[in-house]
Amino acid sequence: MSGTSRCLQTIYQLLRDLGRRPTEIYSLPRDTLRETDDGQPYIIYNSHKTDEYGLELPIHRSTARVIQTWQNALQSIEDVHPDAAGYLFPSPRRYGPQSRTHITPTGFHTNYWRWIDRIRKLPDVRADPTKPADFLTRSRMGLYNWRHTYAQRLSDNSTPPDVIQELMNHKSFTTSTGYIKITRERQRQAIETVNSTTIDRRGLLHGPKDYAAYVRESVATPLGLCTEPSNVKAAGQSCPVRNKCGGCQYYRANLAHLPQIDAHIVALTADLAAAGDIAEPWIHQSLKAEISSYKRMRTALLKEKSKLTPEDKAAIDDAVTLLQQIPPAAPHLEAAGERRMLPLTPVRTADRT
Ligand code: SF4
Repeated sequence: MSGTSRCLQTIYQLLRDLGRRPTEIYSLPRDTLRETDDGQPYIIYNSHKTDEYGLELPIHRSTARVIQTWQNALQSIEDVHPDAAGYLFPSPRRYGPQSRTHITPTGFHTNYWRWIDRIRKLPDVRADPTKPADFLTRSRMGLYNWRHTYAQRLSDNSTPPDVIQELMNHKSFTTSTGYIKITRERQRQAIETVNSTTIDRRGLLHGPKDYAAYVRESVATPLGLCTEPSNVKAAGQSCPVRNKCGGCQYYRANLAHLPQIDAHIVALTADLAAAGDIAEPWIHQSLKAEISSYKRMRTALLKEKSKLTPEDKAAIDDAVTLLQQIPPAAPHLEAAGERRMLPLTPVRTADRT
């Protein structure tokens, strides 16, 4: 294999494995590969989009071997322009301004699509009846889809939201959720799992028996579930008591809602402190009553949690993690034109070396 072919193949492998933006891969420094004190490989890269330099990303050993193999091959490639010598993928051009930098997007794109076209025309691929008509099309195989697939793989491995956000180098997890598609089946299973802990404001268990009942009988509110029929019918837009859920007989919550309830208690407590001398006593009383109602809910939920077996607790933690990855607007994503995921086999976290 020629040096250029090996270079292009390595870029493809890194796009596939690392979930970085294409420009972040093209511009990797030659000494990108590092090791932590305990021997775990990671890379240093630069994000031109966010203007951040010297970012670190932990990687698999198999990907580290890919980089090492290319670094070894790179040593025998001559005539690299001195200005481009600091890049892992120096331009293959030997003359002109472009020879002084890393490989350009055009330099990689042209070959990538040629390669995809060749694969599509292979007799085995064309004859395979299991491949959909749009298999290996440009919309499916776009370079950015590798980044979406990386995020999806993390999600499928039940990676916690904060870790996905960090690995994707996003400022907020909301951005990361745009890269993840939670299948209806996974969502259904997660909801049914956490629903076993759904209680009302008196602490009595109220979990609907199945997903269909959940969809039919409740609507999500910022702090839990509402089962008031007219509000359910109006998709949450017709609350008769101004969303004072803590004091409402139709309010339900489960362990997935604990973080929001905690945050609401903190916000109400801050409001109470701010009310100080400027507010009438009835405002203080109202805030105190509301805080108490959510504290009671919190205590009841923690009591339900303490009754769970370690296995059930682990299953519910996994389900809660998955549900936290679903943005409120998730049902509309498909309509807005979801990205297609690339056909990768999920790698379980435990299999990483
Ligand atoms: S206050 Fe009651 S009716 Fe209104 S959203 Fe909350 S649970 Fe539903």
